[in-house]
Amino acid sequence: MISERIRTANVLVVEDDWPIRHLLKVSLSAHAYEVSEAETCKEAFTSLAKQVPDLLLLDLGLPDGSGIELLRRLRQEHAIPVIILSVQGAETTKIEALDLGADDYLTKPFSVDELLARVRAALRRSKSLHAPTLLTCGDLELDLERRHVTLAGHEISLTPNEFSLLMAFMRNQDRVLTHRQLLKEVWGEGYVDDSHVLRVNVCNLRRKLNSPDGKRNYIKTEPGVGYRLCLPRPA
Ligand code: CA
Repeated sequence: MISERIRTANVLVVEDDWPIRHLLKVSLSAHAYEVSEAETCKEAFTSLAKQVPDLLLLDLGLPDGSGIELLRRLRQEHAIPVIILSVQGAETTKIEALDLGADDYLTKPFSVDELLARVRAALRRSKSLHAPTLLTCGDLELDLERRHVTLAGHEISLTPNEFSLLMAFMRNQDRVLTHRQLLKEVWGEGYVDDSHVLRVNVCNLRRKLNSPDGKRNYIKTEPGVGYRLCLPRPA
């Protein structure tokens, strides 16, 4: 197992309306956030007891109670940023939530861009997230928030799996990562023996990261063990 799991912000979405919850999950996941979901206050408390997220997106009208009550109880223990999902016209509740320590609110319907901007701003303000969002190795830069990779300033287009693979490498520079570690990290537990899929993806990633003359190779093969990302030696 990779000892330090890739650290991106974890967002707990508490929302009983499936289409909205799904939209939030898809949009946030696409921008490298880890997303947990809860449909009710009860599920939210269970989730919070297991893992405290970096940010909470909270709907106020939940089937088994009010998000306001959840916020009140949360604030007794945690200072994580909370963004309220409110409906149009619910000004009093919005103010009540802000008074209780919510950081911001989004009025439904909201745009994905607006949501992401609010989440970024709330996380920036929060002290709870120390992980860098920009990983670098020489000329190579990986922006976790924007899911954007550049090499010497030029954007490189990667598939989602190639991106996750590169992210695993960049979080563990100069360390050998075994085939199993990488397969588990990127594809999941069920794929740990699928060395072919790893080989193909490493090969494609190398091709995208290498200079045309093939002299700049970031990903080193450790024969029989795995791979290692390190700064390419000057040609
Ligand atoms: Ca609701």
